[in-house]
Formats: sequence, structure tokens, C-alpha cells
Amino acid sequence: MPKTIHLAAIPNASRLTLSEMAPSVLQSEIRAMSVECDAMGGINLAQGVCDTPVPAVVEEAAIQAIRAGLNIYTRLDGIASLRQAIAAKQQRDYALTYDADSEILVTSGATGGLHAAAMALLNPGDEVLLFEPFYGYHLNTLQSMRVVPVLVPLAAPDWALDVDVLRAAITSRTRALILNTPSNPSGKVFTLPELEAIAEVAIEHDLFVLTDEIYEYFVYDGAKHISPATLPGMKERTVVISGFSKTFSVTGWRVGYVTASAKWLPSMAYFHDLTYVCAPSPFQHAAAAGLDQLPPSFYTQLAADHQSKRARLLAALRDAGLEPSVPAGAYYVLADAGHLPGKTAAEKARHLLARTGVASVAGSAFFRPGRGEDLLRFCFAKQDKDLDEACERLRKL
Ligand code: PLP
Repeated sequence: MPKTIHLAAIPNASRLTLSEMAPSVLQSEIRAMSVECDAMGGINLAQGVCDTPVPAVVEEAAIQAIRAGLNIYTRLDGIASLRQAIAAKQQRDYALTYDADSEILVTSGATGGLHAAAMALLNPGDEVLLFEPFYGYHLNTLQSMRVVPVLVPLAAPDWALDVDVLRAAITSRTRALILNTPSNPSGKVFTLPELEAIAEVAIEHDLFVLTDEIYEYFVYDGAKHISPATLPGMKERTVVISGFSKTFSVTGWRVGYVTASAKWLPSMAYFHDLTYVCAPSPFQHAAAAGLDQLPPSFYTQLAADHQSKRARLLAALRDAGLEPSVPAGAYYVLADAGHLPGKTAAEKARHLLARTGVASVAGSAFFRPGRGEDLLRFCFAKQDKDLDEACERLRKL
């Protein structure tokens, strides 16, 4: 006999609801612009998709790895040859010594790296300092873990750091600081005096520093990328996060890494394993081949190529009356669109798309509510022909 269900026992309010953390608005402004841009056959300078060519050795090594059957799970912290290549790269570029067996974790992109690091080091209710303008994933990753991002505004137009503003944001709950240098969206490259000031604060208040260095090779006009891990007293408290998405133009491959003290790294590996198991195996082999085989000139050429793309876009934005702030690194430009029709940056971006067929991102995506409404972000990591076409269209504004 079927069990009788007493209707009175069913609560009126169903418990089938989304979690407290699930966002009510799902589509990001950046993706929304990309969709609208595709629909009208426009040129997308909104998303940092990076459609420049993949270095031949990297591409070939991926194909070879798949053909050689290197398609199964790897060790949870990544294949040995890639961990060794990352250790050698950190030594070569920054004189940072990491043990390939205990201090390097290969991750599913820098994104997976940040997630694993935050899971391992932060507790719900902790406060984490985040410079504004910020990269949305940094903010959202913290919030998804019930960690509280505390925004520290950088001053326009050159996004200079005011150490007093940084100090004023610290409370007894502050546990870490997220740094992104070179930075998306501002292109800011933190200088040595700024990093020294940040290091002083981090040491004084015993903070972790999570540093996203995914644009480490995209630096212009002689600017130098400095990892905060290189500063005295900083290595143990600093978690370096980077990856190959941008350097090798393989954003869809999902290979990045974290370097950190062996005190913290196994816990990060544990959390990364829970979500991703490992980074894609053949692409780990390809990244190792790239690190081992590409000459130093590859990295200088990468910066030179993007400096020339930056110059093209800056000139077009000035001609269009969209005054840019000149980025010292990364591959985005924030430009002043204050005079374009529309109350919000999202409306201004839509106006620009309708008038010129060029998609940009509303500056408000990178600031607290109410800020960034006069700014638009443009990405210049595009094939030259597409970038030139976009520049020509912008000039028609
Ligand atoms: N970090 C920053 C600052 C970025 O701008 C991006 C991509 O736009 C990423 C991380 C994503 O890196 P990955 O593809 O390695 O996850």
C-alpha cells in the first residue's frame, strides 16, 4: 500500500531555492556586450579573449601530446616537467627559488589558482583588501566564499596608490590583500616604491598577499614587472598566481599555476583537486614545451607587439574624443566616455556599439556601484587587421 502523504505536512514555502551566494543576475556585462556585438557583426574589444596566434612550439606540443596518449589525469599538482619549467622560469625572471615538488601547483588557469588559494587561506567573514578598479573575478571569488572584499580606491588618471587610504581600510578582520600587477582593467604596473609600501603594511598587519601576475610579460615603455614575492620578508606570505592564457594566447586551454610556501601549497592542491582534479593533461605538456623552448626574445617581442597595438588604439581613441588613460602594462585601455549619450557606462557602451560597431565594456564593471560610469574599457589583444578595422570605425564616432 502506498504511503499516505499528509498535505498539511508540506510547507507552503518551498525549500527549493537558490543558495544565498547564488547571484540574482547571472549574465556579466562583458558577456552581454559580446553577445550583442556578435549579433550585429561588430568588432569585439570587450572581452580579453586574446585571439593572437599561439606560438608554433606550444601548438605542436599540444597536438603531439594528444597523439602520444598523454590524455589521462596527471598528478594533482601537475606534471613534473611543467612544475620544473615554472620553477626555472621564476628563478630566471625574478630570482625566486621554489621547490618544484612542494611549492608549485599547476592549476586550471589563474582563475582556478586564485580559487584554490582563497579556499586554503581564507575563512568566511575575513576581510580582503582589493584595489579598485578591480578585476571582477577577484571580487566575485571572494564573495562566493563569504569572504568580504574591502575596496581600496586607486586615484585616477594614473591609478596611483595612496598608502594612507590603504592603511585606513585595515581592520582587525583583514587577513589578506589581492594585488594584480600589471592590472586589468587599468593597466597599472605597481612600482617598486608602491610595492615596498604594500609590503610594509602586509608585514606590519601580518597579511597574506595574493598576487595575480597573469600579464607579467605585457609591460610597455620600459616599465618593469616586479613580483611582491621578491621583496624582503614577503616570500612566505605571498602567493603568486599566473598562467599561460595570455602569454601563449591559449585562454581556452585552462593552464595556470600558483607558487607558494610549502606550508600552504598542499592545502591549495587539495581544494584544486576537489574542483578540477588536474589541469588539462596535453596542455600541461604544451605549456612546458613553451617555457622550455621559447627564447627570451619571444617575451620581448610579445611586449613590443602589444606596445604597437596599444599605440594604434590610443591614437584612435584620442581621435574619437575618448581620452584614454595610458596603460603601462596588460592589454586594456580605460577611456573617458563622459560626453557620450547615456546616463550609465552600460548605456554609453551600447551607444558606441550602435554607432561604430565596436564593443567595449562599461567601466562600472570594475568599480563599486556609482563609480566608473564615465569610463569604457577597450581590449587591444587583437589580430592587427581586426584592431585596425576597430580603430577606423572608432574614428567615425
Ligand atoms: N586574472 C586577470 C587579472 C585576468 O584579466 C584574467 C583574464 O582576463 C585572468 C586572471 C584569467 O586567467 P586564466 O585564463 O589563467 O584563468
